[in-house]
Amino acid sequence: MPKSKRSSKRRVDRKMPKPKKTKSESARLKATLRSARPINAALKTLVIAAEPPIDSNPAHLDSAFRGKLERALAQLSAQGNPFRFVEGFRMVDRQQWLYGSGRPSAVPYGRPGPILTNADGVNALSKHQGNGTPGSGLAADCYPLRGGSVYIPPDTDPIWDQYAAAVVAQGLVAGRNFPKFKDSPHCEMP
Ligand SMILES: [Zn+2]
Repeated sequence: MPKSKRSSKRRVDRKMPKPKKTKSESARLKATLRSARPINAALKTLVIAAEPPIDSNPAHLDSAFRGKLERALAQLSAQGNPFRFVEGFRMVDRQQWLYGSGRPSAVPYGRPGPILTNADGVNALSKHQGNGTPGSGLAADCYPLRGGSVYIPPDTDPIWDQYAAAVVAQGLVAGRNFPKFKDSPHCEMP
């Protein structure tokens, strides 16, 4: 992001320790995801300052869930619609950070923005958190690949229906089929 677009909020957030920058797969994926859709620049500065990292380690998922997910992704690939597993297990910190979006008074990560989840990470756990320990994650967020890169199609894109069908075929629940809070990239153990 160009320096000129940084808001004054950024200066406040500089007092916080900077998140460690690694060239990990998840960091590159995050960069890809951010560049793939327009994001309000003011909110983006907050994201850069405070976002706890995405965990894309399949070993941090529950093994039965991981097996089903891998079969669904293999099927999509065979159909010519490859998807990539982008986020799985979540620590409390990251769930709280997601919960803070759209809830400016939430502690510790309240800020303006869209509501992203109803699970506060402590009293209501997301399936991404499993039982709180790495290796127990029961949900994943996956995105399609185009030319080898992850992109974020609009919710109306039928490619999401194919993803939902593939995970449902493995006995998983597709976030796209949630009656409220339709969440197309998400799937989880029932
Ligand atoms: Zn999810």
